[in-house]
Amino acid sequence: IPEIALAGRSNVGKSSFINKLIQRKALARTSSKPGKTQTLNFYKMNESFLFVDVPGYGYAKVSKKEKEKWGKMMEEYFSTREQLQMVMLIVDIRHDPSKDDVMMYDFLKHFDLPVTVVATKLDKIKKGQKAKQLKRVMEVLGMEEQDQLIPFSAETGEGKEVAWGAIKRYLS
Ligand code: GDP
Repeated sequence: IPEIALAGRSNVGKSSFINKLIQRKALARTSSKPGKTQTLNFYKMNESFLFVDVPGYGYAKVSKKEKEKWGKMMEEYFSTREQLQMVMLIVDIRHDPSKDDVMMYDFLKHFDLPVTVVATKLDKIKKGQKAKQLKRVMEVLGMEEQDQLIPFSAETGEGKEVAWGAIKRYLS
């Protein structure tokens, strides 16, 4: 069964993204505490694919030991999964991607994975800032030409259809 992974720093809005896509309020838990040891969570989507919720990263408070543990788990998952079709990297459209976001993007590219970047919390910026912020996300991540960037809001649902389109394209 094919897999689509979702990655993003803690509190970026990853759970809200999943919940909006699947029209549920509470399947994916929100507000997970950073620094707590977490594992990959798998959500089965109508027999046709799995959403793989990668634990949130970032937050300087996390101890070195925790970071190493996280890195090892990521490495294991991303280097061995033949079912993995594409990774959705969730970033906050209001800010330039963080160092951790850039590291994650590079890490995924290192494994030759297609990445779809979802710039969420679109409802929190003014309409006139959208194009400029999207350009910043592309520039700071150093996004490859073939990787798609989707503006999204879990609040309004904007970008939901485009996100599903991206997922379906990689499942065929
Ligand atoms: P996670 O830790 O990445 O899973 O983040 P959550 O999904 O728990 O979201 C973190 C916070 O951001 C919560 O308070 C959400 O309500 C809020 N949030 C997430 N997505 C959006 C969005 O698109 N728009 C707005 N306005 N708030 C959002």
